[in-house]
Amino acid sequence: MNIKINKEYTLKLLEEIINIPSPTGYCSNVMSYIENIAEEFGYKFKKNKKGNGIIEIEGEDNTYCVGLPVHVDTLGAMVRSVNDDGTIKITSIGGNLYPTLDGEYCKIHTRKGKIYTGTMLSTSPSMHVYKDSKDKERIEENMMVRLDELVKSKEDVQALNIETGDFISIEPKFAITPAGFIKSRYLDDKAGTACALSLMELFKRLNTKPKHKVKIILSTYEEAGHGCSSIPEDIDELIAIDMGCIGLDLSCTEQDVSICAKDSSGPYDYDITSKLIKLAAENNIGHAVDIYPMYSSDVSASLKGGNDIKGGLIGPGVHASHGMERTHVDGIKNTIKLIYAYLTE
Ligand SMILES: [Zn+2]
Repeated sequence: MNIKINKEYTLKLLEEIINIPSPTGYCSNVMSYIENIAEEFGYKFKKNKKGNGIIEIEGEDNTYCVGLPVHVDTLGAMVRSVNDDGTIKITSIGGNLYPTLDGEYCKIHTRKGKIYTGTMLSTSPSMHVYKDSKDKERIEENMMVRLDELVKSKEDVQALNIETGDFISIEPKFAITPAGFIKSRYLDDKAGTACALSLMELFKRLNTKPKHKVKIILSTYEEAGHGCSSIPEDIDELIAIDMGCIGLDLSCTEQDVSICAKDSSGPYDYDITSKLIKLAAENNIGHAVDIYPMYSSDVSASLKGGNDIKGGLIGPGVHASHGMERTHVDGIKNTIKLIYAYLTE
């Protein structure tokens, strides 16, 4: 296999989807954006009832169907209540690493369609005032949002139509460095999403087709654990493209595509995993095979949801996951190459 990945296309797409806020439960903007891309390429796009998007790519033989779950939902927060001093008490969406959120810029999306900016801080935010500013544990009850508005009370904030249940998105801080690193929040799993969507560009440009029918599933509740608990009936197997873990005794780097043999939900399908490893080795694709100690994927959600499928899990290595994440352009390229090989060989 000797294919050229259109790096410029994939990185531009990645930046665009990362910059569309999509905390779990607030994914319709990013979904509309992706729907347009699929339609521009001429692929069928559908949504299921809970809002997961499904892009269909016809294969040479359409009697067998490979599903590719990627999740467009990310971590974030929600307004829990408004404090008497006009700051906002938050509740977490997904598993936030709060110490990394201290000092981050954020946006409050009101149900009336207005967006306000603010900063996430600890409730002892000033070194010159609070004895515990350094030591206060960065946990949910000790965090708040400081609004960039002239507000001094609960009533002032309510007058802006900021209410309990409004979504809060965190500034992702997307950047590409000269050495090819991609630094941003929410590479989990916008990086996997960009890899899957790049297959459309690849199949069109190379004028090729996958062996079997492919359905890219844009999952919207993965971080809440039930993203792909239901999937289209015609799907026979799932290969989730989600972030690869890095750290401890794991061998993956940011330049590799990670192949997960087992995570907290158990081992992945033996034949699929073996085939992924074999294809990566045969095609000189930089890869690692790892065990993820604290992880579950949309394949796990699908199996727990009672679907009769088998599944595998791959994805670009992502450092400092759920914090200030980083991957490398090679990790992205290797992921696209491996999934392309899997679907065509
Ligand atoms: Zn993920």
